[in-house]
Amino acid sequence: MTEPSPLNAWPIYDLHSHTQASDGLLTPEALVLRAVEQRVGVLAITDHDTTDGVRPAQAAIEKFQLPLRLIAGVEISTLWENHEIHIVGLGVDCDNPVLTAFLQQQNDRRMARARLIAERLEKAHIPDALSGALALAGGGAITRGHFARFLISQGKADNMAQVFKNYLARGKTGYVPPQWCTIKQAIDAIHHSGGRSVLAHPGRYGLSAKWLKRLIAHFSEVGGDAMEVAQCQQAPNERTQLARYAQDYQLAASQGSDFHQPCPWIELGKKLWLPANVEAVWQRFPEIEQV
Ligand code: AMP
Ligand code: MN
Ligand code: MN
Ligand code: MN
Repeated sequence: MTEPSPLNAWPIYDLHSHTQASDGLLTPEALVLRAVEQRVGVLAITDHDTTDGVRPAQAAIEKFQLPLRLIAGVEISTLWENHEIHIVGLGVDCDNPVLTAFLQQQNDRRMARARLIAERLEKAHIPDALSGALALAGGGAITRGHFARFLISQGKADNMAQVFKNYLARGKTGYVPPQWCTIKQAIDAIHHSGGRSVLAHPGRYGLSAKWLKRLIAHFSEVGGDAMEVAQCQQAPNERTQLARYAQDYQLAASQGSDFHQPCPWIELGKKLWLPANVEAVWQRFPEIEQV
């Protein structure tokens, strides 16, 4: 793997993270405090289809005078060729009416799907999943992550990987095909609110090289700006390969932990650096850092 370039050694940028506003376990306040502990200098909060974590996080940064810059972000679920593809928006205006209406529609879809997931689980003799998952979501965007935690609490599985494999993955008892927006609709909503769009974790969709290139080509054609190249958990060659794709498709490069909760493998700011042959998203689009 290419060595980390000294240019992006400081500050550490972590441009993908979650709070209790969706399926993260930490409050926005706890997340920013942890980011500072981990020496992150620039953090994007990118909850699933909501920006509700951003304002409380900014308030905490001001209250505690933290040495941390916050980027207002979001992670939008889309459907492309029957694959669920996540598009991160960075530097969005949380109050933009086009964006808020768009995210409301995504959350209506989340709630409709949650009802159907619960119906399916009920038929499989697992009652009360909707109220259980909603209680865990605590008013935040409802996700399969909440159903996963509910099923674990009911003793149906020991861990997240197992519960997804047995209940929530495509074709399993609790799986309901989602009705997400298209990639272009997500990018347009992000652009409308002044943000930049990033193809999230391209290595995690289980696509062959041919299909991954198709996805990146499509994302670029419909106006996509950047793609995630660096994550803390990656196969040895993935970062180099993704950097090459970013170069081939003239996309800027992003990096993020996709932190959801404290765990031994994934940590804010951990192992995040970009190979030297790509242009960082914060360099090509410096306006994303203006709150
Ligand atoms: P949703 O957007 O409602 O489909 O929920 C997707 C979320 O579920 C992801 O953002 C992850 O946090 C979580 N998730 C999906 N697959 C897995 C998995 N195999 N193991 C653990 N968490 C997962
Ligand atoms: Mn998640
Ligand atoms: Mn994602
Ligand atoms: Mn994420």
